Amino acid sequence: MQEPREVLRKIFGYDSFRGEQQEIIDHVIGGGDALVLMPTGGGKSLCYQIPALVRDGVAVVVSPLIALMQDQVDALTALGVRAGFLNSTQDLETRREVETAFLGGDLDLLYLAPEALSGGSAMRLLERGRISLFAIDEAHCVSQWGHDFRPDYLALSVLHERWPEVPRIALTATATTATRNEIATRLKLTEARRFVSSFDRPNIRYRIVPKVDPRKQLLDLLRTEHPGDAGIVYCLSRASVDKTAEFLRANGVEALAYHAGLDAATRAAHQARFLREDGLIMVATIAFGMGIDKPDVRFVAHLDLPKSVEGYYQETGRAGRDGLPATAWLAYGLQDVVQQRKMIDSSEGDNAYRRGLAAHLDAMLALCETTECRRAQLLAYFGEASASCANCDTCLEPPQSWDGTIPAQKLLSTVLRLQRERNQRFGAGQSIDILLGRKTDKVVQHRHDELSVFGIGTELQESEWRAVVRQLLAQGLLAVEGGYGTISLTDGSAAVLSRQREVLLRKEPERTRRAAAGSAK
Ligand code: ADP
Ligand code: ZN
Repeated sequence: MQEPREVLRKIFGYDSFRGEQQEIIDHVIGGGDALVLMPTGGGKSLCYQIPALVRDGVAVVVSPLIALMQDQVDALTALGVRAGFLNSTQDLETRREVETAFLGGDLDLLYLAPEALSGGSAMRLLERGRISLFAIDEAHCVSQWGHDFRPDYLALSVLHERWPEVPRIALTATATTATRNEIATRLKLTEARRFVSSFDRPNIRYRIVPKVDPRKQLLDLLRTEHPGDAGIVYCLSRASVDKTAEFLRANGVEALAYHAGLDAATRAAHQARFLREDGLIMVATIAFGMGIDKPDVRFVAHLDLPKSVEGYYQETGRAGRDGLPATAWLAYGLQDVVQQRKMIDSSEGDNAYRRGLAAHLDAMLALCETTECRRAQLLAYFGEASASCANCDTCLEPPQSWDGTIPAQKLLSTVLRLQRERNQRFGAGQSIDILLGRKTDKVVQHRHDELSVFGIGTELQESEWRAVVRQLLAQGLLAVEGGYGTISLTDGSAAVLSRQREVLLRKEPERTRRAAAGSAK
């Protein structure tokens, strides 16, 4: 039997194992099951590739990344590893060849799409071969709460029943305690040894800014801090992906679009260019990125609020895999919260499912509005304690907090008056117009200028009022409803209105305040 370290050197050309790789590899070679939680770029692939080379038989790797299988297999073949894949994109003849190689034991690794396993034919094939181990990559796809849920992953629990003696290793970069437990339960890996690496990515600088004019803010970021760098820009909708890519190109920045609305050939071509060329920017929905191994992505920018901290962390983790300084930049505004509430309220699924989505959104809001170290808060979300990092916006330019009790009361009592005296609900913009004493058409039409709160909030600017609203939402002192994006009071609001509770708010650093003063959105 070969030594893992020899394989590492001779085949992969690396001198030493990273982090817990060695322990994981030894454990799997010894026949143990493993659940591996490692951040993106941590080096998960070797954890099953080396056991695949050391143990007898063929390692079966389940991966949802059909578009990348060819690349993965090519990369391994170039190293002299015997690898193949089976998925729905192949013609019959190619499939036959791979199947023959598998049955003859002429492969070290066989990559399979999960849907292949829910059909009977791949199962029958596997039963006729000799399997050294099962690797389940991107194992969080089994989580129904996650954004990458693949129903076919649920069927993977049968592997254990049919091949109880074959070790299984499940790997993911997504890992709150809840998700970990869900993966273990659904894949029947509760007895597996868990290997949890630190999720810290110290070279990534996290920054979250109020959204004013997002495309222009992005362009400023690119021009001042990342000229000529490769990066990924995430937008929520396909339309906004297209618009943003066009906007960047119109401003002399090379940008490509990627979303599920483009045909497969265009997507593949854009992905290939992004991987191979220098300094390209990929503007994409979250359909892009899983499994992409481009070491020199210098920034990941979000123009819309991600739906969960887990998704955010995974997407930003695609920056700076080479360990060099990289930026994770997010612009977020009130409109994001309204939009996501709408999506949650109109989503299919039962109440528990919606509550889950809402909890994810709340955690994301709390991260956006924190006055503490962003990294410490992110890592705490993954159950990891850490000190302040000195490499995030709140550490570098600590936001001051201020006593926002009075503005909070003014805002809440405006909402209360609309609700009680008029039996009306409006979006946040109307309350802000009332507080600022603006006689807009809508204010006059509804005679809101006759309310006692009209014009009592001129001490703050519109952008500052928007920040107050966002933070009250983040603190659960105000709620926004899905249908029309109207705001309403919560159980917590009463304590503020009756002066039993103070409200501490975050003051944006001077630089962001100046930027936001212009055209508040
Ligand atoms: P993950 O799947 O966890 O995102 P990968 O397996 O793609 O990470 O590894 C990320 C990068 O680190 C790859 O380029 C890989 O070749 C490299 N790498 C992994 N392990 C080692 C090691 N022990 N020494 C040096 N480089 C490594
Ligand atoms: Zn920090």
